[in-house]
Amino acid sequence: MQLLQPESLDAATAALGNGSVALAGGTELVPLLRSRLVEADTLVDVRAVVPRGVQGTTIGAGTTLAELEADPEIPVALREACTLASSPQLRSMGTIGGNLLQATRCWYWRLNYPCFLHGGSTCHAREGAHREHAIFGNERCASAHPSDPAAALLALGATLRTDRRELPVADLYRLPTDDDRDVTALEPGELILELEVPQPEASTYLKAMERNRFSFALVGAAAARSGGETRLALAGVAPIPWLLGGPDELDRATPLPGTAYKVDLARPLVRRALEALG
Ligand SMILES: Cc1cc2nc3c(=O)[nH]c(=O)nc-3n(C[C@H](O)[C@H](O)[C@H](O)COP(=O)(O)OP(=O)(O)OC[C@H]3O[C@@H](n4cnc5c(N)ncnc54)[C@H](O)[C@@H]3O)c2cc1C
Ligand code: SF4
Repeated sequence: MQLLQPESLDAATAALGNGSVALAGGTELVPLLRSRLVEADTLVDVRAVVPRGVQGTTIGAGTTLAELEADPEIPVALREACTLASSPQLRSMGTIGGNLLQATRCWYWRLNYPCFLHGGSTCHAREGAHREHAIFGNERCASAHPSDPAAALLALGATLRTDRRELPVADLYRLPTDDDRDVTALEPGELILELEVPQPEASTYLKAMERNRFSFALVGAAAARSGGETRLALAGVAPIPWLLGGPDELDRATPLPGTAYKVDLARPLVRRALEALG
């Protein structure tokens, strides 16, 4: 395997595609390469060309979760979502851009079962072990999106700038279909460069976990109020971060037998998140 370390954005984008993959902190990509869930002949280290740091409401996609959790200018929901993600070591290496693009933690997918998300015809989790899986959007793939910051950014109404376009974080994600099993709308080789995160009047992120630390969200609830409008988003409840129309939408969840408890977990989290906005 070849490692490229381009010094300009043009050189990086020219090197991406055709069997090469972008490498940032590597906390997600390296394990996926090791277990052969991602095949690549060339890694393109993008750390020198993807912006890093915070300028007003603009966040470089190469900013680490540790840097975001410590910056008082960052909206509370995003700061709390970063603080509650993974471990201090992983947060020191892991970037916000890489976090948004992390793959599902579904164990069938991680063990390379030929499931729907891998291009097959069956979701093994629906009939099998699915305690940590989805309660929304789970008809074809029942995985639960693992990113805490993605839910916070959805509630905050953030947008992304890539090397090709601008798009709302809400449009970055899509449910997998028969024709396209990808859960993001990024094109091959497209690089996330920056996030634009409007400053809300108030925001928060709450997370229910198996343990108090170093655990993926069973349910994460983000809430943000801007211009009198409140937006809610959930982590850990659907194959993609889930924009929740309001607490009543939980009545229309479609849990599997083993995930019904997540609906009961989400209700008080959402209520407490809304209360925290004041
Ligand atoms: C044990 C463990 C526990 C974790 N717990 C949590 C948790 O509780 N909550 C949570 O939210 N996350 C959790 N994570 C995920 C962690 O936060 C991510 O692995 C990390 O943020 C990924 O960032 P990275 O820079 O290391 O990405 P990389 O591993 O370098 O890349 C990840 C993916 O993003 C792509 N990529 C990276 N940067 C860009 C870019 N700028 N543009 C386009 N593509 C890009 C890469 O090609 C790759 O596909 C956990 C991870 C581990 C390993
Ligand atoms: S939940 Fe999704 S990733 Fe897991 S087995 Fe089903 S189709 Fe595959």
